[in-house]
Amino acid sequence: IHQTFVQALPLIEQIEAVGFEAYFVGGSVRDALLGKEINDVDIATSAFPAEIKQIFPKTIDVGIEHGTVMVLWDGEAYEITTFRTESTYQDFRRPDKVEFVRSLEEDLKRRDFTVNALAMDKNGQIMDYFNGQEDLKQGIIKAVGSPQERFHEDALRMMRAVRFVSQLGFTMEHDTQEAINQHQALLEKISVERIAIEFMKLLQGKGCSKGLTLFIDTGLYQYCPGLAAYRSQLVQFAQFEGELPTRLSAWTLLLYHLGIPTEKTTAFLKGWKCSNKEMQAVTLAVGTLRTRINHPLTSLELYHAGLEIALEVEEMVSKLQVPADLESVKTRYEQLAIKGKSDIAVTGNDILAVLAIKPGRWLGEVLNEIEQLIVTEQLENTKEAILNWVKNKYQ
Ligand code: ATP
Ligand code: MG
Repeated sequence: IHQTFVQALPLIEQIEAVGFEAYFVGGSVRDALLGKEINDVDIATSAFPAEIKQIFPKTIDVGIEHGTVMVLWDGEAYEITTFRTESTYQDFRRPDKVEFVRSLEEDLKRRDFTVNALAMDKNGQIMDYFNGQEDLKQGIIKAVGSPQERFHEDALRMMRAVRFVSQLGFTMEHDTQEAINQHQALLEKISVERIAIEFMKLLQGKGCSKGLTLFIDTGLYQYCPGLAAYRSQLVQFAQFEGELPTRLSAWTLLLYHLGIPTEKTTAFLKGWKCSNKEMQAVTLAVGTLRTRINHPLTSLELYHAGLEIALEVEEMVSKLQVPADLESVKTRYEQLAIKGKSDIAVTGNDILAVLAIKPGRWLGEVLNEIEQLIVTEQLENTKEAILNWVKNKYQ
């Protein structure tokens, strides 16, 4: 059994010592059985939250109304969640009320897919009520119980289904897919933020092409911000056979394939509720990618992109069958005379002093011009050279 589980074993033992049940559940069990790296282990227990808080000295209430207590243990944080059923579904969304139960099987029954409904006890024994291990072997995403009901209860599960197909490189079980075809429109009820999380994981999955194809075929794309009118472009994008290792590359290549013009990228990303910081980075990256596809970046283009975006874009073009050269981007960036405005050898005050005039808007423009000349190596970045240039031009 995996080292990450071993580290968390004392938690299970302590819960069991006072007479409750506890198991590893969810994604970590699935990924361990697949021989994949595991990130966070989740624990499910028959103990109620108040009982968990009595067992462990250091706990944080992270979602106590949903039965989740975070336990700090051995320098790590673990989420321990009470077995529960989700009885009252409203508006096709996650329920607002949960009911705690004492049975593991009840808890696993409310989970989304058979491969996510596995539990493992402290000896590494797998509890499998829904044939999840077989589906794991076959590489199948299949709803637990009636897919119709499960998607009706929580429409986000439809996005999760295609996301797991992409992430795990699995195929979707027939009835599960049929149910998504039928219930696609329920996705409208789900908040953009929750859809966006799944969509990003879908794009970043190793089976992105397969996941995207399902995303299109099931019709889910029509209920995602800004995508309804782009079916054929999405189909094009689904031909893309590379990995999109970061959110930046995922958004950038999506926008590139959709052919959304640079001035409309912000509106598109706003629809997905992206942060301002991410919108800025993606907009810059899309512009840089379009330029880079036509020709290697000029010094000025490289300077404006910055090293991080320039390198990510170089990675992207390599996947678009354009010859790429990461090393040369690095060395050329290193060789830029300045990396930002603050590297310019004069300040606005130096310029004002030389010209003996009052500041105004023109000063910013002069600095922009100086910046550009330095980056393009038409002006040396020394105080003397710059002030001489200023005198010649403006005095
Ligand atoms: P990841 O590796 O991306 O974290 P995960 O399977 O752990 O994948 P989470 O979103 O962390 O996914 O959820 C943990 C577990 O909770 C899932 O494995 C599943 O059993 C259950 N679960 C999560 N979301 C839902 C949902 N909408 N409906 C039913 N069960 C869910
Ligand atoms: Mg998880």
